[in-house]
Amino acid sequence: MMDIVIIGAGVTGLSTAYHLAKRKAGRITVIDKGPAGDGSSSRAAGICTGLLWTEAGIRVRRRCLELYAELSRDLAGYAFQRTGCLNLFSASDWPARAALLPLYDRLGARYEVHAPPLFEPFRCAPDNVALYDPLGGYSEPSQYLPALTAALRAAGVAILQYTRVEEVLTANGAVTGVRTAGSTMRADAVVCATYGWTRLLLAPLGVTVPVKAFVHQRFEAEPRAPLPPFPAVNANPLGIYARPALEGRVLVGIETLDRPGFEIPDAQFNLSSLTISPGLRGMALDRLATLLPAAGGARPVSESVGLLTFSLDGEPVLGPVVQLPGLYLGLAFHSGGFAYNPGAGELLAQYVLEGRTAIDVSTWSPSRFDASEAAQYLATPLRQSQTFRRRH
Ligand SMILES: Cc1cc2nc3c(=O)[nH]c(=O)nc-3n(C[C@H](O)[C@H](O)[C@H](O)COP(=O)(O)OP(=O)(O)OC[C@H]3O[C@@H](n4cnc5c(N)ncnc54)[C@H](O)[C@@H]3O)c2cc1C
Repeated sequence: MMDIVIIGAGVTGLSTAYHLAKRKAGRITVIDKGPAGDGSSSRAAGICTGLLWTEAGIRVRRRCLELYAELSRDLAGYAFQRTGCLNLFSASDWPARAALLPLYDRLGARYEVHAPPLFEPFRCAPDNVALYDPLGGYSEPSQYLPALTAALRAAGVAILQYTRVEEVLTANGAVTGVRTAGSTMRADAVVCATYGWTRLLLAPLGVTVPVKAFVHQRFEAEPRAPLPPFPAVNANPLGIYARPALEGRVLVGIETLDRPGFEIPDAQFNLSSLTISPGLRGMALDRLATLLPAAGGARPVSESVGLLTFSLDGEPVLGPVVQLPGLYLGLAFHSGGFAYNPGAGELLAQYVLEGRTAIDVSTWSPSRFDASEAAQYLATPLRQSQTFRRRH
């Protein structure tokens, strides 16, 4: 029987455990230095669209949307909200996205292209273009995370919370387990789903991935009157995204492209110490009112700050670490790691159990980077605008 340790109980780690447990993979333990979901996962907006930028991304997202439908049936207290997802573009940004339509056609990804009069209840510039994904929508993290955690416990997965992995153990060039403050644990496979903390954890093993983290935030507000139904929306020309939220609220997130990269200072670091720049909330709500006039004057009720991680080429980093058999990574999902989680978990489970995946994600391999380019990426201070502008 295999022993599998997953470090990180965010959506990536929990989903990996879910797919391993479904395949009755052996003894599965998920370890988090805080409570489950303590990283960016509980802070996410959970928006998902299938209309991405690469063949691997589009194929994996299609699988994610299938899995969300299954999870909505299988997880008590969770349902994917299939509102559709509207991706708005300015006239100058649209040609780059329009160039992807033949890829969507070839892969059978469903989409509609609309002109402004059809965007109701949104208001936007007359030259904007909307790419609508009828299958997109969102997951509410406050429902998804507890539902997934409960399903894992019911399936016999051990979830160790408030337990930090201090070291990934190796012998004879392969991974053998992990060490926490209280104990060591033997493992045939270790899946590292530690997102922004990955660099700190793996540096002692000489494993580096060219990934940068950026602070990101979103808000919830209570409208003055009930809002008309509206889809999740990535309003790129306004630098915001929005979706309906629980109890008739509206959620809005805002890009801060001029922010420099954020280095997690130490292994104990907790995202609750991140702060939001003054004025950002007002700016987000003003832009929301421009996009969705019915949300004008909405009263802010909560805010969430976390991290986004971007790799050197903008694509996720997922798969086995070739120089250390038994070690697997899943991170750098740009601002779409929540959306990706069911597929990312399934792919990681397939790598651990079968050594290969049903969808070709070799372009996401942790080993794909040129060492000197990777070192240069890590050494160069970058603002978020200098990485990839990729949303959900
Ligand atoms: C404000 C905001 C809005 C977002 N909106 C969206 C959205 O609409 N759609 C979308 O798809 N994505 C969105 N994202 C991105 C999404 O949140 C992330 O991509 C996703 O949650 C990453 O999940 P993860 O499980 O990989 O990482 P995390 O959720 O960060 O989990 C990593 C876990 O590892 C644990 N850990 C770290 N080091 C150790 C250690 N040594 N030992 C034990 N545990 C450790 C941490 O405590 C943490 O719980 C948003 C992010 C933010 C911040």
